[in-house]
Order: sequence, then structure tokens, then C-alpha cells
Amino acid sequence: MSTFDYDLFVVGGGSGGVRAARIAAGHGAKVAVAEESRVGGTCVIRGCVPKKLLSYAAHFHEDFEDARAYGWSSGEATFDWPTLIANKDKEIDRLNGIYKKLLSGSNVALLESRAVLLDPHTLDVGGKKVTAKEILIAVGGWPEMPVLPGIEFAISSNEAFHLPRLPKDVVIVGGGYIALEFAGIFNGLGARAHLLYRGEQILRGFDNDVRNFAATEIVKKGVNLRTHADVVKIEAIGERRRVTLKDGGIIDCDVVMYATGRSPKTDGMGLREVGVELAKDASIKVDAFSKTSIGNIHAIGDCTNRVNLTPVAIKEGHAYADTVFGGKSWCVDHATIASAVFSHPPIGVVGRTEEEARASGLALDIYKAEFKPLKHTLSGRDERTLMKLVVDRESQVVLGAHMVGMDAPEIIQALAIAVKMRATKSQFDATMAVHPTAAEEFVTMRTPVAAA
Ligand code: FAD
Repeated sequence: MSTFDYDLFVVGGGSGGVRAARIAAGHGAKVAVAEESRVGGTCVIRGCVPKKLLSYAAHFHEDFEDARAYGWSSGEATFDWPTLIANKDKEIDRLNGIYKKLLSGSNVALLESRAVLLDPHTLDVGGKKVTAKEILIAVGGWPEMPVLPGIEFAISSNEAFHLPRLPKDVVIVGGGYIALEFAGIFNGLGARAHLLYRGEQILRGFDNDVRNFAATEIVKKGVNLRTHADVVKIEAIGERRRVTLKDGGIIDCDVVMYATGRSPKTDGMGLREVGVELAKDASIKVDAFSKTSIGNIHAIGDCTNRVNLTPVAIKEGHAYADTVFGGKSWCVDHATIASAVFSHPPIGVVGRTEEEARASGLALDIYKAEFKPLKHTLSGRDERTLMKLVVDRESQVVLGAHMVGMDAPEIIQALAIAVKMRATKSQFDATMAVHPTAAEEFVTMRTPVAAA
């Protein structure tokens, strides 16, 4: 008979925590989850899902224009931000309800409070002491705001989902995927979007061809992208905001949004005090099985800062529950994880960039295709697509696949299977094309463009 209240206590009801709790309960464990905000976590409440809904909304702008070349005509299209936000909120409420039902349906107790560790087996949950044999920390991350005069006049992605009205003009600071996605959203919905990045080029860590191509395409769509742009202060002038740059430049706008990074939400929850080791960036140090420096405490998802994506957090949670409660030990393979940027146009990537592969000393064959999508031959829209394969010359294994263009996230998901299986270029070539598609280029690229 256990002397603990629960076999497993999960702190954080987001992507990873909910999956771990349900799987552990399915293995027969008595499980509780503490959630201080809303069950569903970042992805459902203030991340992937609402951002993709807004991104869909932003695409209609071009769809209405493109439809004319296909013979369609309609009255002048107008857009209403409050309708979009209300409908988006309704969907998030629905998903929040589904997540709650998933927990109760799995016999997982939900405690809607903040949890803080008191010792390796005890937590304070909303003023009540709770004990557990095993503890799983799945607290996710939070937007990081820099120290800067006037930063209190800026918002993060959290607030961008709840603006009372569509800004006329918006400054987005950052060069990562969230910054790009919001630049596409605001620009597509009709705001003037300024994207400021202090580095050389946006999307650090992505393949250089993808970075340059994406930058060109988003500028063509109307985003005012400025690299080497360092913000020194933000001022409020009535309802408006004034952004001053290091080079003296000034941009006035309705909204300033920062998307310059996220940090693990590990502060003030007693981790260090009970002996859980944290890294310099405040992420929780874990081994391959998500175990922390304290044997019965594990951590998964964004708070461990491994690969900060929803499917990764979910898989880490599943592996943890199977390993600790299911008698089936396995850990997540963090190599070759496909990912997408829902920018306009979107991006899909899997595997190594050309730069990474070269840095590891491999001789490479690089295949590239760049073209105007068939849809835009009639619409006349000046949007191009890029596809790229990075191939190890010796083994002919496809090390990386990269795409910027319509449907890239959908295409890369399927291609990720082949890249994960270490398919060779000749196996790509032996695959019959599906015609007419953009994706067929991935199996019809014949001649390497660069050899080194
Ligand atoms: P979370 O989902 O963040 O859940 C952590 C939960 O813990 C939160 O609900 C929080 O309230 C709760 N919590 C924290 N501290 C405590 C405490 N002490 N007590 C109780 N509860 C606590 N990923 C993708 O794969 N694809 C995308 O397209 C994508 N888009 C994104 C867009 C945006 C704008 C953002 C911000 C993120 C996006 N992500 C995307 C990342 C994705 O949301 C995260 O990787 C994922 O949610 C991580 O899951 P998690 O379980 O680690 O944490």
C-alpha cells in the first residue's frame, strides 16, 4: 500500500504533461496534474493552434485576389478582427474542454492551481500539501522580454492573440519562426508589418538558402524586413508606440511585439531548493530518459530545452510514462525532427542543413529547384518556391530536405519518413512523381547544382 497520495504527480497540463499523465494512468498509476493556467498548455491555448488559425485567416487576402484570374468575382472583401478572435477563442475553449475530458476520462485528477516543490516527494498545490512517489515537471516555457527602456509598452505572442483590434501598423522584433509567422499574419490581414532583426539574416539555424529565399519572399509580400536593426527604446505616445533604433531610425506603430526567445518556466517552483539541477538558461538538466539529478523527479518538454516542439514534448511524455509505469523502457530519438514555419509562404525542413553537413566534413551533392507554382501562372502572383536536397556524396543518403513554398509543412511531413529512414537519392529518383504537384520536384531533381 503506497504511503503517497499519488503514484505520479505531473506539474503542467500542456502537451507533454497531459500525454504522460494519461499514459501513466493507463498503466494503472494513480495520477494527478496541476495546471496553473488552462489545460492544453502553450500549443493549444497560446501557440500552435491559435497561430495557425490566424495564419489561415491571413491567407484569404491573397486567395480573394488570386481567384479573379480563375474567373471568380465577388464584392469587395472586408475583414473583421473581432469576429476572427471570437471564433478562435471559441475553438480554443472547445479544445480546452476536450483536454479536460481526456484527463477525467483517463481517471487523472486535475488540480487547477500552481504547484511548487517542497521536497522530492511533496508539493504545495494551491496551499495544499500533496505527496507523490514520482514527480514529472512539464512546465513549458514563457516569452522572454529583454531589458530595455519602454519594454513595458511591448507585447509578446501571448497578448497578440487577444488584441482588441487589428493594428494599423505593427513592429515585430525577432528573427525566429514565431516572429516570421506573426509578420505573415499581420501583413496578410492588412496591417503594415515591420520585422526587425538585429542579426545578419532571419531564421538562424535554418539552411542558408532557405533563410535568404524566405527573406526575399516575405519582403515581396510587403513585410518591411530590416536586419541589423537594434531597438534601443520604446516610447508610448498616446495610444501609439515609437520604436527607436540604434542607427537613429524611428518607427511609429500601434503595437510592438517581441518574439526574441522563450525561456523555461522553472523560476520560483522550488526546483533548485530540492536539488534538481538547472542549466545556465534555467532549463532542467535531464538524461536520455528525462531523469533529473533527483531520481524520482523527471522533466519533459520545453522546460528541458531540447527540441521545443509539441510533438517532441508529447513523445517525451509518452516515453517517460511507458518507462516508469509501463515496464517498457524507451527514450526519444531527437535526431532528424521535421519542423515547419507557418510564414507566408510557409517553410518545411527535415534533417541537416548544407552548412551543418559541410561542417561535419562530408562531401555533398546539393540539388535545388526554384520555380513559380502552377497556381500562380494564372494568378500572376510573384511568389516562388524553393526545394533543396542535401545528399552525402559517398553514401548517397539524403541528409536533409528543405522547402519554402505553398504546402511545404504538409509535404515535408511525408518526406520526413524517407529522410528518417536514410533513403538514398536513387531511392528518391526511383519514386514515381505525382503530377502535377510541387512535391514531385523532390523526386525529379536530376543534376546536382553544387559539388564540393
Ligand atoms: P506547455 O505546453 O507550455 O505546458 C506547460 C504548462 O505548465 C502550461 O499550461 C503552464 O501554465 C503550466 N505550468 C507552468 N508552471 C506551472 C506550475 N508551477 N504549476 C502548475 N502549472 C504550471 N510547436 C510546434 O510543434 N508547432 C508549432 O507550430 C508551434 N507554434 C508555436 C507558436 C507559438 C506562438 C508558441 C509560443 C509556441 C509554439 N510551438 C509550436 C511550441 C509548442 O507550443 C511547445 O513546444 C509545446 O507547447 C511544449 O509543451 P510542454 O508540455 O513542454 O509545455
